Amino acid sequence: MSGLKLRGVRKSFGSVEVIRGIDLDIEPNEFVVFVGPSGCGKSTLLRMIAGLEGITEGELDIGGTRMNDVDPSKRGIAMVFQTYALYPHMSVRQNMGFALKFAGVAKDEIDRQVDEAARILELAPLMHRRPGELSGGQRQRVAIGRAIVRHPEVFLFDEPLSNLDAELRVHMRIEIARLHKELATTIIYVTHDQVEAMTLADKIVVMRDGSVAQVGSPLTLYDDPDNLFVAGFIGSPK
Ligand code: ADP
Ligand code: MG
Repeated sequence: MSGLKLRGVRKSFGSVEVIRGIDLDIEPNEFVVFVGPSGCGKSTLLRMIAGLEGITEGELDIGGTRMNDVDPSKRGIAMVFQTYALYPHMSVRQNMGFALKFAGVAKDEIDRQVDEAARILELAPLMHRRPGELSGGQRQRVAIGRAIVRHPEVFLFDEPLSNLDAELRVHMRIEIARLHKELATTIIYVTHDQVEAMTLADKIVVMRDGSVAQVGSPLTLYDDPDNLFVAGFIGSPK
C-alpha cells in the first residue's frame, strides 16, 4: 500500500480553473473520503490521481515516486466508478479476469487471483453467471472484483454506490469497510452520502470550488466544523 502527497495541485480546462491548489497528505492504508457539492472538482481530482487527466500545475507523489507524468497503468491504482460497464457476453469469472488476460498473465494465475477476489467479495457461487443475471449490488461487487485482481496499492472509488437502492447501499458500505481491512490498502472514496463519509472515513476532505475547505477526522468535522459550509455538509449545527 502507498501513501500520497499532493502539493499545489491545479487543473484548468481551457481558461477555467477547476482545481485551485490542493495540498494533501494521505497515509498508507488510510481511508480518505472526499465530499463536497456537485461540480466542486471531486471526480477531476480522482481522475488526475489515476492519470486519466493531466495535472496542470503542482506535484503528485504516490508511494514516494513523482507520478505527474507516469502512465495510468503504472501508478498502482485501480478506480471503481459510479457507472461501471461489465462485458454483457462474458461470465463473472471472465469479467474479473479480463484485465489480467489482456496483460498476458497465465491462466492458472488468473484463476487464482479471481478465486481469491471472489472469496473476499462472496461472489464464488455466481462465477458462471452473466452480468444480466445479477442484481445491482452483485454487479457492483464484480466491478470491485475486477479492480482487486490487479492488486492496486491505491483504490479510487467515485460514488460507487449512488446507483444502488438504500438497502443495498448499507450492505455494500459494510462490504467496503471489510474490504479495506482485509486488503490493507489505501482507499480514496468520493461520496455525497453523509453516513458513508462518517462511517467509512479515517479522514474526511470537504471540498468547495476546487479547494479544500477542511480536512479532519469524522469526529473533528462533526464536533468542530471550521465554518457553516463544512457544518452544512457533515458537521453538527454551529
Ligand atoms: P464533481 O465530481 O465534484 O461533481 P467534477 O470534477 O466532475 O466535479 O467537475 C468539476 C468542474 O470541472 C465542473 O465545473 C465541470 O463542469 C468541469 N469539468 C470536468 N471535466 C471537464 C472537462 N473534461 N472539460 C471541461 N470542464 C470539465
Ligand atoms: Mg463527480
